[in-house]
This record gives sequence, C-alpha cells and structure tokens, in this order.
Amino acid sequence: MGIYLQDDDNQINRSNNVTVQSKHVSREMRGKIFGKFNGFRGCTLWLTGLSGAGKTSIAFNLENYLIKNGIPAYCLDGDNMRSGLNKNLNFSKEDRKENIRRSAEVAKLFADSGHITICSFVSPFSDDRFLARKLHQEVGLTFFEIFINASLDVCESRDVKGLYKKARDGIINSFTGIGQDYQVPINPDLVLDTEKQTLEQSTTTLIKFLEDKKILPTLRKQN
Ligand code: ADP
Repeated sequence: MGIYLQDDDNQINRSNNVTVQSKHVSREMRGKIFGKFNGFRGCTLWLTGLSGAGKTSIAFNLENYLIKNGIPAYCLDGDNMRSGLNKNLNFSKEDRKENIRRSAEVAKLFADSGHITICSFVSPFSDDRFLARKLHQEVGLTFFEIFINASLDVCESRDVKGLYKKARDGIINSFTGIGQDYQVPINPDLVLDTEKQTLEQSTTTLIKFLEDKKILPTLRKQN
C-alpha cells in the first residue's frame, strides 16, 4: 500500500476536524469582473481517449481560441500534472485512480474560480471519470465528458510520442490499449471523431457545443 489509501471515500479521507469555509465572493460576483464577457462560465471539459487520439491538440487549440477572445480558460494536461502534483504516481490502476481524483479536484477549483477548465487525461476507467463528474456536481459546477475517439490502430500509427512502440517492445507496461483496457464512455456529452475530422473541425465542433450549452457567447463569424 502506498502513502495514501483509496479503496473508498472513507479511506481517502484522513483529515479530521475540518470544516469547509464559505467565501464572501459568489460565483455570480466573480463572473461580473472576470474576463471580457459578463457572466460566470466556470466549468470543466473532461477530454478522455487513447493516447494519440487528439486530446491535447484539441485542448490547447480551444484554450488558445478562448484566451484570444477574452474568456478565462486553463488547460490541465495529464503529462503536465504528472510532472508536478502527481509525480509520485505510476500507471497502476490504483495510482491512475488517484491521479484522476487529484486532477479532478484541481479542475474543480479552477472551474469554481470561473475558468473554462479543459482537462486532457487518458482516464481509461469509467469509475474514475464518474468520480470526476461527481466531484463537480456536488458543488453545482457544470462538467462535460468529451470522448476523443480514434481507433487504437490510428492512434498507434500516429504514435505522437513513440509510446506505442515502446509498449509493443515491452519497455512500457500498463499502457492503455495494449497492456491495460480503455473503457469507452457509455454516455459522453460529446464525441469528437478525430479520424473523420481535422483538428480545426474538431475544435470548431467543440466550440459550437459550448455555444449551444450557453457556456460561450457566439464569437465565431457565422457562415
Ligand atoms: P493525445 O493528447 O490524445 O495523446 P495528441 O493531441 O498529443 O493526442 O496527438 C494527436 C495527434 O493526432 C496530433 O498529431 C494531431 O495533429 C493529430 N490529429 C489528427 N486529427 C486530429 C483531430 N481531429 N483532433 C486532434 N488531433 C488530430
């Protein structure tokens, strides 16, 4: 057993005598002064999919678009989280769970601060993604699960970081799609099929989705 316990919520919770403090600033107040457009837009977009499916590319494109248009946004990327807060975690099922729990808690704080928080995590297990959603719903924050869909064959042929080759060569264990399962989302809020779309098309589909959900004002030039 590692430095934390996590079989269920009770085991995670080792903090006693803690009372959550209520702030003086409401989300509505924050939304009035935050960014170029009035209104609270804090939410989390949870991009899940195989390595190489396109999560990071889409997340960074969207973040760039939002910031350029004066809408507070921030990307939390799996690799970046693992190089800091989560650097003591490996890729076992147990550590993947803790990786997602911590990352979802951080996303929740960013979303609460008013940012459109764009998370790109392989997050292969449904239960872990469900926990991420639950953590947001408990505090009244919008959470969208977005499945970045590309087949294992296509992801492997892209092999952006050379990791599939390493996994096939036995250099990496527990690699999603090869040594470990990816549980396809059953009921995602949006699916982006990156085999059929270009990066620009996928990003635009996501922007339209956010407009439809009234997270974003319509900023694009209408065709
Ligand atoms: P992930 O973050 O899921 O591991 P990356 O974004 O790092 O994936 O890599 C995805 C690769 O697929 C990039 O080389 C990207 O240019 C390419 N790609 C092709 N079509 C798309 C698309 N529609 N959306 C996102 N990426 C795409």
